[in-house]
Amino acid sequence: MNGQDNGTAPGGAASLPYAVELSRWSGEFTDRAAEDAFGEHVGAAELRHFIIALFVTGPLYFAFVISDYLLLGFSALFWVNAVLRLGVLGFCWGLGVWLLRHPVLPPRLYRLSLVFFFVVLGNALLLYPVSQREFLEIYPGLLVMMVGAFFFVPSTLNHRLMASAFAVIGLGIETLLFFPPTPHQLPLALMFFLVTLIFCVVTSVQHARLRRFSFIDSVHSRHLTTLLQQEVALRRQLEETARVQARTDELTGLPNRRRFFELAEREMVRAQRYSAPLAVVMLDLDHFKEINDNHGHATGDQVLRAVGDCCRDVLRTNDVVGRLGGEEFAIMLPATTLEGAQLFAERLRETITECRIGLPGLELRLTATLGVAACEPGETTTMDELLARADAALYRGKAAGRNRVEG
Ligand code: GH3
Ligand code: MG
Ligand code: MG
Repeated sequence: MNGQDNGTAPGGAASLPYAVELSRWSGEFTDRAAEDAFGEHVGAAELRHFIIALFVTGPLYFAFVISDYLLLGFSALFWVNAVLRLGVLGFCWGLGVWLLRHPVLPPRLYRLSLVFFFVVLGNALLLYPVSQREFLEIYPGLLVMMVGAFFFVPSTLNHRLMASAFAVIGLGIETLLFFPPTPHQLPLALMFFLVTLIFCVVTSVQHARLRRFSFIDSVHSRHLTTLLQQEVALRRQLEETARVQARTDELTGLPNRRRFFELAEREMVRAQRYSAPLAVVMLDLDHFKEINDNHGHATGDQVLRAVGDCCRDVLRTNDVVGRLGGEEFAIMLPATTLEGAQLFAERLRETITECRIGLPGLELRLTATLGVAACEPGETTTMDELLARADAALYRGKAAGRNRVEG
């Protein structure tokens, strides 16, 4: 009977890891894994609901001792009824307390609710023959229990139908044996039973479908949230990479021109605020074009990387080196006077002459010319001006024969 539903869940099922067809018969997922996932999703609520049903059903069922007493007085039959009702009360509360201590999730929970149906209905069937009632007094009880089984106790459609069949067959046999209805009562009772059954089945199937649709929606939105979070994380990572790339020289990994100026200008402001000296050094490799021409551009790149490493090695913590472009580097030396900067530049020049390029079989004589300029404490000048002075010193050095420090 488990037909496939034509319409799948709203929102489509593309992102769910399992099929989401709903059974036309029961309104439940046809796929076991989907039904288990749904059971997990609603498990806690179903358990709470079942425990409430147990604690409410027990006393309600027991409360009928009042009508038993009005009918039977304190007779032996009354006490049989009372004990049977007490049995149901004990079972319901016992199971309720046990479930509070030992939480059970669907589908085990639904198997327990089926046991509950059989215990209560079986008890009612035992009770009817000794309660000395007539058919029409008993019959509404059946309908009430059926409605309860469909709407008050968490279960599956098949379990609810099994419980209803058990009650109807049991009551049918007892009716024939103990309280035969009059000819007009039987069709009326059957009509009421059928109408109630149809109402219960249709409504509970629709309810089952709606709950699963809302479950699918929540899975979809969780999935979308995860995708969105991943997207945001990826974008952040890309932005960070772009930010780093925008201020880093790709070849040497040093700050590029823009970043160097940013850092240098910040340092200039600080130096002027605290009346501290500040020096800059401009470095230009000598006859670099020849290296490119004689050994190729790739070797030229390797040389630029090696020079970048040399600069890094001689820097102090607060010094900043950047590649301004081509084979020109600039170094900013906070809290350094012109003399200090000249000593530093001389050390750097020597380091570059000893620089090893790391290309086997290649002996390159590498030299550089360096121009130095400094801003004395209290002097107001701009970073552009300072660099222009260092640049002018550099070109004096070039003119004076290269491989030297000027400034
Ligand atoms: P000088 O001693 O007067 O400074 O001579 P030079 O040859 O070093 O000077 P010039 O500025 O004429 O040459 C710089 C060369 O640097 C020209 C250009 O091809 C090369 N160059 C610029 N950028 C790069 C780069 O990223 N990689 C390589 N391999 N070469 C570059
Ligand atoms: Mg140059
Ligand atoms: Mg050069």
